[in-house]
Amino acid sequence: MTDQKTLLVIGGGAAGFFCAINAARLCPSLKVILLEKSSKVLSKVKVSGGGRCNVTHESEEVDDLLHAYPRGKAFMRKTLHQFSPNDTIQWFKERGVEVKVEPDGRMFPVSNQSQTIIDCFLKEAAAYNVEILFNTELQSIHQLGNQFEITLKSDSLKKRLADYICIATGGFPKLEGFSFLSEIGIEIETPVPSLFTFNIADKKLHTLMGVSVSSALVKIPALKMEQLGPVLVTHWGLSGPAVLKLSSYAARELHKMEYDFEILVNWCPDYNESSLLEKMKEEKEFHKGIIGTKNILGLSTRLWEFLLEKAAIASSLQWQDVPQKKLVQLSKVVCGDRYAVKGKTTFKEEFVTSGGVQLNEIDPFTMESHKIPHLFFAGEVINIDGITGGYNFQHAWSSGMIAARAIARDF
Ligand SMILES: Cc1cc2nc3c(=O)[nH]c(=O)nc-3n(C[C@H](O)[C@H](O)[C@H](O)COP(=O)(O)OP(=O)(O)OC[C@H]3O[C@@H](n4cnc5c(N)ncnc54)[C@H](O)[C@@H]3O)c2cc1C
Repeated sequence: MTDQKTLLVIGGGAAGFFCAINAARLCPSLKVILLEKSSKVLSKVKVSGGGRCNVTHESEEVDDLLHAYPRGKAFMRKTLHQFSPNDTIQWFKERGVEVKVEPDGRMFPVSNQSQTIIDCFLKEAAAYNVEILFNTELQSIHQLGNQFEITLKSDSLKKRLADYICIATGGFPKLEGFSFLSEIGIEIETPVPSLFTFNIADKKLHTLMGVSVSSALVKIPALKMEQLGPVLVTHWGLSGPAVLKLSSYAARELHKMEYDFEILVNWCPDYNESSLLEKMKEEKEFHKGIIGTKNILGLSTRLWEFLLEKAAIASSLQWQDVPQKKLVQLSKVVCGDRYAVKGKTTFKEEFVTSGGVQLNEIDPFTMESHKIPHLFFAGEVINIDGITGGYNFQHAWSSGMIAARAIARDF
């Protein structure tokens, strides 16, 4: 018999690894075992950021980041103050991994390879004797005095004892995925997808496939929600940062609407309908030129011709010959181009689950369950999700580190 204490980390993703390697480093006397249900660890890290791994987002102040978490801002304010993007950068630096910042604030390893992050984690795990068990899926947890007894799926006779457990299983698409937690009284917010693109079955729009606009305003009038940013026309509808952000902020409401809603796109957000009409009237009165080639808004030719056609204006007309009522129509189309969205498409570059362990179950200063001592949570299993840009990994690092430090305080 040994009195060495054991931490079981459930899930070999970003959050599980960060908790496991830091707990093992901070408490040399603790036995740390990481359970991974599949045959691979860190598989999302591997494919993340297009294979480059967008590890975090540059920020001066923690408060600058909070807008990026549509759910759980108050909780994130507390966790980011304990382990911020600057702490992430420093942590990697101390282990020989330099990160660089891109103009939009996203941060990547200088190598541009997610494998650099994976190699760093595997090296740390080996250095601090973290035992990794592959193809080992947790099925259920039972409290047994001061310990936990866990049952594995593959072999229900095989039980394991642990003194501490950190749940880092990531999100599950269905509520049933969280049953091992509901069974022990942990409340779960129903999961719904976040970060998706909008399906629009308008064949005319599809002819614009590949057109991108550096700044457009996409609105969902029924929800009074809007986002400004780049928009890309795809062969199934609309994508791009403005659409993805909107899908994230409105994730829960859009799920309730069964992804059947209307959007308005302002292709020239510097103007509204009336200011654009004034500009166009001026053009008609004082300038010459063919409307199809004299595109006063700087939009791509394909988009401009598409909008003219929608407003039933022949592109060969001189500006001065365009009837005023057609200009009214054009300003409406440019500033409020209306589409029916029916369905969504997963954004292949990055998608997350909104929902999971409810925040009132967890102490943000330890990541420990309020109800069950020595049960911790880290990463996407928690009801927190961010927009694209490195925010989701930052949440994984912050929560994983806080749990590791809290466990270490017992030693
Ligand atoms: C394609 C893609 C690209 C992304 N790119 C970025 C990016 O560049 N930047 C960013 O910030 N975010 C990105 N994200 C989001 C980010 O990957 C996730 O938020 C993050 O991986 C969550 O980490 P996690 O450890 O909580 O969960 P996960 O990474 O999902 O890991 C959970 C692990 O637990 C295992 N597991 C689950 N259940 C059990 C069980 N019962 N027993 C044992 N093991 C179990 C799973 O197999 C998995 O390995 C991306 C997501 C995707 C899908």
